[in-house]
Amino acid sequence: MRYFDANATTPLRPAAMSAWANAQSSLWQNPASPSSAGARAASTLEHCREQLATLTGTRASGIVFTSGATEANNAVAAFEAARTPDACAIVSAIEHPSVLEPVKKFFGARRLRLLPVDASGTARLDVLKDWLAAGGTTFVSLMAVNNDTGVVQPVAAAHALAALHGARFHCDATQWFGKFPAGGLPACDYISGSAHKFGGPKGTGFLIFDTVRNAAFSGQCGGGQEHGRRAGTVNLPGIAAMLAALDEADAEAAEKNTAREAARTRFEEIVLQEIPGAHIHGSTAQRAWNTVSLALPRHDNLRWMKRLERLGFTVSTGSACASLDGSPSHTLAAMGCDSAVVRRTLRLSAYWETLPSDWHMLAGALGQTARALDEEARHTDPESGVITVP
Ligand code: PMP
Repeated sequence: MRYFDANATTPLRPAAMSAWANAQSSLWQNPASPSSAGARAASTLEHCREQLATLTGTRASGIVFTSGATEANNAVAAFEAARTPDACAIVSAIEHPSVLEPVKKFFGARRLRLLPVDASGTARLDVLKDWLAAGGTTFVSLMAVNNDTGVVQPVAAAHALAALHGARFHCDATQWFGKFPAGGLPACDYISGSAHKFGGPKGTGFLIFDTVRNAAFSGQCGGGQEHGRRAGTVNLPGIAAMLAALDEADAEAAEKNTAREAARTRFEEIVLQEIPGAHIHGSTAQRAWNTVSLALPRHDNLRWMKRLERLGFTVSTGSACASLDGSPSHTLAAMGCDSAVVRRTLRLSAYWETLPSDWHMLAGALGQTARALDEEARHTDPESGVITVP
């Protein structure tokens, strides 16, 4: 199978696999244990923290390892809502459910404003500026890269606006890490990341926070792990594997992103030519090199997906988390797409092993699928008005 669902998850990189196996076999003791074996595990844990700080250009003391981005996002929303009980949050309408749901829960609808995006899927800075100027906002959250469209969000500008008005700024950078340089984000108050999006293991992630502005930050309570900021036995093998994956992904980003983007652009040119009426959501904005949100002119996206699967391609109808409750993409809805277009949209997301030839073959398979589905529609409904795709 050729895999084009990397925004949902990625396979484990071999370097991560061996880091995991090493830690699991020789550092399996609890880092919180006072034994010398525990101390060895604790020292490796602190080494991983330093390594992540170096890669991201942040401070090790402001890193908390978590079970993933969902936990990190929940912790930030809960902490911020409690920090300023009467103030409001501004959160972009295209955030992942792991941001949207906790901010709704902890701030409540009365204290929450959803920042709109424009037709390209980019957050509206003009609206953010006005809303912040009106006062009463202490928390802003904007993701770095949207998981549905790959559109890169204006995080640096949004962070600067939030800082100007004294609001804390959170960036869910889950889809940024591994695709762009890890050190390329501004010094946000909070940054969340997740290992399984860049070749690390599932169930491992991190939250980076500003130790000066948010000195009191803590997530779940219980034991005193993670310097008292996140209780629960630390998953050291997962963390070691995550760092091995991020280290490798980061080196690749510097070396390969230009060629990767060129392969994706060539794919889009071919598809738009092969399937008249198709279009790409967010094509006028800067996007991650791996993502194409492709609106097809006809037929339900599930039918496209299943046919492509039979041809050897794994693609997606959208975010895996949204697919679980069957809801259509709220990102595309926020961009002004009507529900019929959303139901004809496929999300194609590549990863580090995707070659230009894989993109090329996917373009061919999409053309073939268009012809097959048109043919099928003509047979089942001769009145369908399907026009043969040349
Ligand atoms: N944020 C974004 C933008 C995501 O794409 C995802 C994963 N689908 C998450 C958060 C949740 O990450 P995790 O699986 O680590 O909980």
